[in-house]
Amino acid sequence: MLRALLLAPPGAGKGTQGELLAAERGVPHLATGDMLRRHVTEGTTIGKQAQAYMEKGELVPDELVNQVVGQAIAGDEPLEGFVLDGFPRTLDQARAAYEYGIANNRTFNAVVSLVVPEPELVRRMLERGARDGRSDDTEETVHRRQMVYDESTKPLLDFYRERDILVEVDGVGSVPEVADRIRAAIDALATTD
Ligand code: AMP
Repeated sequence: MLRALLLAPPGAGKGTQGELLAAERGVPHLATGDMLRRHVTEGTTIGKQAQAYMEKGELVPDELVNQVVGQAIAGDEPLEGFVLDGFPRTLDQARAAYEYGIANNRTFNAVVSLVVPEPELVRRMLERGARDGRSDDTEETVHRRQMVYDESTKPLLDFYRERDILVEVDGVGSVPEVADRIRAAIDALATTD
């Protein structure tokens, strides 16, 4: 059962590739950005607390995010498989996820890092902002989000590399090309297990 994490900077295609991978493997696609945006739209307590951080391109505090993900994964019936997109994004979140995984026999078995050069990321995000009207895809916020990724999320690459579950995939190309690379990388990981 696949328990994968897509670990990539904003604009790298996590959402698109996460959905495809999840559908192919028959597991739910859990995107924390989408879940948080839903909370904001519905005006929940979590949404009200998260909104300002999201609009500035800052990370939402760990305890809020852990709560949202906990509801989705551990819920009434703990999920056996999933593709996580956008979580963990800090070392504390990664440690919380690992503790949950160890306690429930559900640690991640693949972490896919999508590698895309920064100018290409910025171009894609501004294009998405113009197309979908996402309020955090503006010129100013886009740069802030890249910086936040470098500072808070990049260190997770080493965390997972040390556990031998990290695969790095070239994220430049068409959607099917990148999906093929991800599939091959995950299969290679499974065979060396
Ligand atoms: P995304 O759709 O993954 O780009 O996420 C959009 C925004 O939601 C981010 O810029 C953060 O403000 C917030 N967010 C999503 N996932 C997390 C997370 N794991 N930790 C903290 N903030 C998050």
